[in-house]
Amino acid sequence: MAFVEKIAGHAGNVGGLPINRALPTPKRRLIGAWCFLDHAGPADLPPGEGMKVGPHPHTGLQTFSWLIEGEVMHRDSLGSAQVLRPGQVNLMTAGRGIAHSEESLTPRLHLAQLWIALPDAQRFCAPAFEHFPVLPRFKEGGFDVTLLAGEHGGQRSPIPLHTPLLGLDLLSSGPAEAELALRPDFEHGLMVLEGSIDVGLEGKKIEHLELGSLLYLSPGFEGVTLHSGAPTRLLLLGGEPLTERPLLWWNFIARSGAEIQQFAQDWNAGSGSFAGVAVQGFDGPRLPAPDASQLHLRIV
Ligand code: MN
Repeated sequence: MAFVEKIAGHAGNVGGLPINRALPTPKRRLIGAWCFLDHAGPADLPPGEGMKVGPHPHTGLQTFSWLIEGEVMHRDSLGSAQVLRPGQVNLMTAGRGIAHSEESLTPRLHLAQLWIALPDAQRFCAPAFEHFPVLPRFKEGGFDVTLLAGEHGGQRSPIPLHTPLLGLDLLSSGPAEAELALRPDFEHGLMVLEGSIDVGLEGKKIEHLELGSLLYLSPGFEGVTLHSGAPTRLLLLGGEPLTERPLLWWNFIARSGAEIQQFAQDWNAGSGSFAGVAVQGFDGPRLPAPDASQLHLRIV
């Protein structure tokens, strides 16, 4: 039986930038392989107090950075140094281990920082970084759509994925309506980044969704109707429900507590999968992993 669930995000701070985290929550941890959804800003950071996230590691995931306003400098242990600008995506595949730093180059900043869990077959792959300056754009009803991930409306995003996913950025400059087809084998989430939206399913309005909350749609829906009364931006994320159970702790994704402890120990000691993994060109210290020795992790 198809169902919807409204999930309240929680506020936080990443490297000096205010964020709202929609996933993971105690109630829901995944939408397909999307496992971490941060909406950062919009914010005007005071001079000298930009976002600055020092070198830190990742494993078992892809970080997907979608920039709406401002500029962010990405550096990583593969030697990448890439400025991310509005309308662009940085995709970093951590695989068995990578480290990166991020810093804002502009006072104004607005972005979505999303993580994608890698499936078992790819989670120890070689790390990689790719920059996507241009993504497919088209109209759906009164919305300007950017196809971030997957396929929609006969178009396909160039971003390489390891599980079936969808990512759309939808922008209206005023009152607008759209009816979007959904894959019924996907679960979906709607996340408002600016303004608010009326969401309709199966011919009736079911929710007025505001900034800061996520509407989860289970598999089984064939379409969704969106209606905005004012300028609005939202993300529609979807994916085939994962059968694997990724375990997320700090910046690592693994499958067991022992694996997490090993990653933390290796990062802090610069050994094992993090031997020689360092970010060049960042002015500041690397971020140590918190103490993982007392972890009692449960895979749910
Ligand atoms: Mn990171």
